[in-house]
Amino acid sequence: MSTAQTSSPTRKSPLCKRTLDELPFSLVELDPTQVVKGILVGDGFMAEAVTPVGQMREICPNCDGEPLQLVLRHEHVIRAHLFCVKCTRCYDAIYLDGNSALLVAGQSID
Ligand SMILES: [Zn+2]
Repeated sequence: MSTAQTSSPTRKSPLCKRTLDELPFSLVELDPTQVVKGILVGDGFMAEAVTPVGQMREICPNCDGEPLQLVLRHEHVIRAHLFCVKCTRCYDAIYLDGNSALLVAGQSID
């Protein structure tokens, strides 16, 4: 008795929306101590030096017209984030469904 179930489902990937740029997301400010290793000093947080990999089209919500830099996870960087060199704030890009655009992008590169 042979089971003739040859109904091979075509591999439909739910990842049909791959254009990160066109998806709406909102910038959420992150606690710097949560994204970069460093030490707390008297008047703030001294993070290890990080090297942004590129400039994003996104603008810092706190600074007028200052583009954010993309920092990927490596060594001192705990998680990928967007960084503003002007106000040193860190942001995450959260899609409407609650997922982080950066964590997905960062891990595929990492
Ligand atoms: Zn800023």
